[in-house]
Amino acid sequence: MIRLESVDCTPLFTENDLQIIDQLKSNTESFRDKWNSDIFRPVYVSIKSKLLIKQDRTCFYCQRKLTQLSNEDWQIDHIVAIDEDSRHTFTSDNLILSCKWCNRHKKERRVLSKIGRTDRYSRSSANYKIVHPRLDRYSEHFQIIGGKIYIGLTQKGKTAKEYCNLDRIILDHMTGLDVDNSLLVRASLDLLFSDNPRSLIVFLQQYDKNG
Ligand SMILES: [Zn+2]
Repeated sequence: MIRLESVDCTPLFTENDLQIIDQLKSNTESFRDKWNSDIFRPVYVSIKSKLLIKQDRTCFYCQRKLTQLSNEDWQIDHIVAIDEDSRHTFTSDNLILSCKWCNRHKKERRVLSKIGRTDRYSRSSANYKIVHPRLDRYSEHFQIIGGKIYIGLTQKGKTAKEYCNLDRIILDHMTGLDVDNSLLVRASLDLLFSDNPRSLIVFLQQYDKNG
């Protein structure tokens, strides 16, 4: 199920936040230190609350609405990582809410096709190797079967799936001891190790319809 096709581009920062950011930009610390600094902390907490509402506690990458996840376990992901291009550490359009698991796998993976020559944040979808939460529509790049199997429909979908290791979700499910779904787990494993693993996808599509 796709819950969050894209995330709107309304700026996250207030005038006061921008003043703090300007102040931070003028010091000589690394951008990672600026981002993690005490002075930025209240701004961080405030934009995370905004993103939690904006995204309705839904991770863009795995599309799961995780209402039980504590605020600490939600993370602000830099779509273009700080190490890839630090100029976008404080760019609203580059910040998104991600569950801690997707964020942990995506880490510092390179998402830009090429580093921009100017400081301007690229608003061209073609410049990004993964589905961009603000420039692309999720359903054009992904199909999700049974809420657990992620199929990349395009190269961007396939790359995002690899970066966030989205196969972990069906694997976690199949190796967990979820008694309620034991039929699904057993049938899925049988099909996965059968001569025709594609039948697993057909089975899960059917399961999804029935469920
Ligand atoms: Zn996620």
